[in-house]
Amino acid sequence: MDLSFSKDDLAFRDEVREFLRTSLPADVKERFDRGLHPTREGQIRWQKILNEKGWMAPNWPKEYGGTGWTITQKYIAAHEFGHASAPPPMSFGVSMVGPVIYTFGTPEQKEYYLPRILNSDDWWCQGYSEPGSGSDLASLQTKAVRDGDHYIVNGQKIWTTFAQHADMIFCLVRTDSSAKQQEGISFLLIDMKTPGITVKPIIGIDKEHSLNEVFFEDVRVPVKNRIGEENKGWTYAKFLLGHERNNIARVARSKRQVERLRAFAQTERSGGRPLAEDPDFINKLTRIEVDLMALEYTELRYISMLSHGKNLTAEPSVLKIKGTEVQQRLTSLLVETLGMYGAPYEAEKNFEGRNEARVGPDYAFGPMAEHLYLRAATIYGGSNEIQRNIISKMVLGL
Ligand SMILES: Cc1cc2nc3c(=O)[nH]c(=O)nc-3n(C[C@H](O)[C@H](O)[C@H](O)COP(=O)(O)OP(=O)(O)OC[C@H]3O[C@@H](n4cnc5c(N)ncnc54)[C@H](O)[C@@H]3O)c2cc1C
Repeated sequence: MDLSFSKDDLAFRDEVREFLRTSLPADVKERFDRGLHPTREGQIRWQKILNEKGWMAPNWPKEYGGTGWTITQKYIAAHEFGHASAPPPMSFGVSMVGPVIYTFGTPEQKEYYLPRILNSDDWWCQGYSEPGSGSDLASLQTKAVRDGDHYIVNGQKIWTTFAQHADMIFCLVRTDSSAKQQEGISFLLIDMKTPGITVKPIIGIDKEHSLNEVFFEDVRVPVKNRIGEENKGWTYAKFLLGHERNNIARVARSKRQVERLRAFAQTERSGGRPLAEDPDFINKLTRIEVDLMALEYTELRYISMLSHGKNLTAEPSVLKIKGTEVQQRLTSLLVETLGMYGAPYEAEKNFEGRNEARVGPDYAFGPMAEHLYLRAATIYGGSNEIQRNIISKMVLGL
């Protein structure tokens, strides 16, 4: 196992650093640093800058617009992005449906959709979960019935992140109810402007609107918008989930949170001295840092395995569990560090048009929102219980 970076890797790191220093818009950086959801406009503006640089899709093959970076370069870039508080591209297009399209799509689908993903012409959302079908995804009920060269789609999706911003949704639908669950599913690309689609907001525990219900009532979808074969959608769906768990540990973001915690602890006081000198605080932060360091080295070991041509099996599940637990502990400690100023939290939209100051110092705005939102980190992307099932099956053979 070789964990050191070459001279070329270090030069690449400097190039990424310089690009982020000069090109990342200050407002986009600030929102991400505070842990707030991106605005549609800000996220698209930033993605277009990335695309102009040719860095929108590091994981795609070069022929479709990928960067051609080595695994180590991808790791370095992800870490520099985290350190600079640069949001990664929205995952639904570039990390989820994009790889499905270039792997299983028709030449026409590739030619049409891939450049639009790179240029952020389409904002995608993920129509997998349904009421009653989350972990047990294969039980999904949304139906698509063939009518000539169209499908007629009826049903409901739930927890659809940013559906309110989306131009397109990739959807799992049931095309054969008589087959075994996994064998009757198809994968459709649906234009969100199609008549019969209704999006209803779900306001989260963070009081923000990122989640939605999406209803389909006699929605006509051209058959040419189906990925691959009819009733083979489960294969493409599972392939996509493998890509969803890329970079799920968010080590770089957590390292940035440690930096923020250290800065807050210099300013906040406890018992007449800076919190940074408080033994209880030092103990809590150090415990998290030790776990974060172990997580980072675990991730590096997996990267080293990948770059030596080995396949990963249950390793992404390990990263998902430990990464999300560290994220939750860090935001809890951030809120705790802010004392009474950490607790008050108002939804962003309540501040529109108001001229009074927020409660507490400026840096106290954000941590509570992120802390509340990240309660979901151990649920989305496949719950941590499901990840533990994967480990027990693939590693322990249970
Ligand atoms: C913030 C957020 C964003 C999301 N965004 C999207 C999105 O954009 N698109 C989308 O399609 N979905 C999205 N989801 C849905 C997400 O994928 C599901 O919430 C997740 O798969 C869990 O499904 P569920 O909510 O139906 O819970 P359930 O599957 O009902 O699980 C309930 C509990 O039981 C446990 N459990 C279930 N089965 C087992 C088992 N076999 N063994 C052990 N424990 C088990 C689970 O771990 C969980 O604790 C999002 C969810 C959240 C919270």
